[in-house]
Amino acid sequence: MPTRSVTERLRAGEVLLMDGGTGSELQRRGVAVLLGSRGDKLGPWSATANLDAADVVQQVHQDYLRVGADIIISNNFRTTRTRLAPVALGDRWTEYARAGGQLAVRARNAINPEAYVAGGMAAPGLGMLYDRPGTDVEIMGEPEYRREFAEHSRVLAETGVDVMLPEFVNFIQDCVAAVDACAEAGRPVWLGVPWVTMDGTTRNGETMEDLATALSGHPVEAVLLMCSRPEAISVTLPRLRQAFGGPIGAYPNVGYNPMAPVGGRVHLGPDIISAQAHSPSRLAEFAREWIEMGAQIVGGCCATGPEHIMAMSAVVRSARGRGRGRDA
Ligand SMILES: [Zn+2]
Repeated sequence: MPTRSVTERLRAGEVLLMDGGTGSELQRRGVAVLLGSRGDKLGPWSATANLDAADVVQQVHQDYLRVGADIIISNNFRTTRTRLAPVALGDRWTEYARAGGQLAVRARNAINPEAYVAGGMAAPGLGMLYDRPGTDVEIMGEPEYRREFAEHSRVLAETGVDVMLPEFVNFIQDCVAAVDACAEAGRPVWLGVPWVTMDGTTRNGETMEDLATALSGHPVEAVLLMCSRPEAISVTLPRLRQAFGGPIGAYPNVGYNPMAPVGGRVHLGPDIISAQAHSPSRLAEFAREWIEMGAQIVGGCCATGPEHIMAMSAVVRSARGRGRGRDA
């Protein structure tokens, strides 16, 4: 258990390094992540690895901690009933969810007890899954949507994660319901907003101003732009800084198509390795820019690996050395 809470460190202005991609890194290491994936629809992705390749999951976490990550995100992106039900594992979702939290906490305790574990839970994404327009709240109904996040958070809180991180939440309406539901577990809540654009908006055209206004008064401590192109984060982050008063952060996607080996889906790149649009040193330059823009949490999402986080680590340490993050 860390001696200082992550909330306290963020309030003191400190810059913290997050880990890189977990699902993509598991795939890179040969773990099967495409169970139930068909056409352009991804199944539960890395969720099943928590029981089927637990040692590799823990190894990935430990590798990120070894290169200096202050925060790791547990492998709980799709350990939900909604995403496991199509592969006939819906009734066992708690086993996969609990294992994800436990593996991350175990890795933290083994490598760096001062590091933090964020319980990362993706939104159901039913609009994308079923090609149905609409928010998850509209498609599932708000009580069911909230129940999924609240139950998932409760399981993760029991494993000892420090922060709840509903991520890949696409619509403002869903963001608000997700942070409310996750807060029920009694941990700080951060929010991960995906796929921001070169127009400085969400992929649905919603603005950072509208997002911040909607979140006002709701229990969210930090907002992070995630799984987006680094260039789009550089456009959107200043707008988030203007709009939202709390800590902000960024963890970009550098090009990843989990389905490339089987589906050929046009997503963000042709395949997991060659699609990497940015070298570790280029991504570290972006991280430096985002810290200058006010980001206090920087890391990587899909297709980033320990090599990217190692490069960013030097930038974060030097930001701390310049005095950012000293206790006010
Ligand atoms: Zn991602």
